[in-house]
Amino acid sequence: MIIGVPKEVKNHEYRVGLIPASVLELIRLGHQVLVETQAGHGIDISDHQYEKAGAKIVPSSDYVFSKSDLIVKVKEPQPLERQKLKPHQILFTYLHLAADLHQAEDLIKSKAVCIAYETVTDAFNGLPLLAPMSEVAGRMSVQAGARALEKSAGGRGLLLAGVPGVAAAKVVIIGGGNVGRGALKIAHGMAANVTILDKNIKVLREIDQDYGNAVTTLYANNHNLQQAVLEADLVIGAVLVPGAAAPKLISADMVKQMKPGAVIVDVAIDQGGCCETARPTTHENPTYIIDNIVHYCVSNMPGAVARTATFALNNATLPYIIALAEKGLCQAMADDPGLFNGLNVINGHICRQEVADSLDLPY
Ligand code: NAD
Repeated sequence: MIIGVPKEVKNHEYRVGLIPASVLELIRLGHQVLVETQAGHGIDISDHQYEKAGAKIVPSSDYVFSKSDLIVKVKEPQPLERQKLKPHQILFTYLHLAADLHQAEDLIKSKAVCIAYETVTDAFNGLPLLAPMSEVAGRMSVQAGARALEKSAGGRGLLLAGVPGVAAAKVVIIGGGNVGRGALKIAHGMAANVTILDKNIKVLREIDQDYGNAVTTLYANNHNLQQAVLEADLVIGAVLVPGAAAPKLISADMVKQMKPGAVIVDVAIDQGGCCETARPTTHENPTYIIDNIVHYCVSNMPGAVARTATFALNNATLPYIIALAEKGLCQAMADDPGLFNGLNVINGHICRQEVADSLDLPY
């Protein structure tokens, strides 16, 4: 199979669909890989490294799209890229179609086979191609929060770990899934005083087993939540209700009562945010202050650590890319119902009910 990797064109997107190590694996299996020149430039992966792995460097994305059977990307195809898709060509990338009518219409028109990373499932009904980005965002959230706690950023002027004789900062993490546990690992590692809340007792039990008394686990009822948030120096919002907007667990009234200079990092902002006063921000301008509380609400956090995020994403996507290349679309889908769940558009039809329903398009 010919596998193509175009350079990402979305603003400030530096990630890339395949790393050289993945190229090498595909070449060893007898496939051909085309990489657009400079595709990895933004994260210090040179054309030469791809060539050494066996890829052919090509001059343009036109070339990649016109020659490849399978296109591997990171972000949803932009309007110009969508025009280059061909009937029956396989596109494997994040799509987030349910809120993007123009993209859905273009993908239908293209008659390409569009598989979305974010709806591929694993044997436990988890989302294996979303999990690595959640891990990245979770670990990053503490870094972002620690910076926002500094006086120059409008924060309380606190060092997370404190020093001998001075108490550590109080970090409260709401949600103990992929993001929450990533945040927990780093906050604990930075010697903060950590409390984590979740609605799922099983999650709290696992955290208790891993961390013992070093971390406080609390059931996320209203009482515990309010008390923890009002005592916090740094709150990390990491909840997810699958398929729904994030629940507003931190009301505007609670924000008003928090300690002046405290910080909220609302990682769930891509689902609307779990704090009533949260609105999406960008890496260029990541924070704003309301009622003396610093809000960090960047909706594509992994973009800031594009190199780490690329390698993490590729570790998760490579087995699926190999399955598609080795077995072809039909057999790969037949063998793995989780990969089949990734199929969003095929031959001019939307094939996920919730996407069709949310866009009012035929299913
Ligand atoms: P996850 O499913 O692994 O974990 C979510 C956790 O939230 C679960 O443990 C669940 O029990 C808990 N939860 C649900 N409702 C709750 C409530 N009312 N109170 C307390 N806990 C509750 O999800 P995840 O992968 O950790 O993702 C968390 C959020 O982060 C999602 O909204 C995701 O889209 C977002 N995210 C954002 C970025 C970014 O760049 N901003 C990056 C990755 C993920």
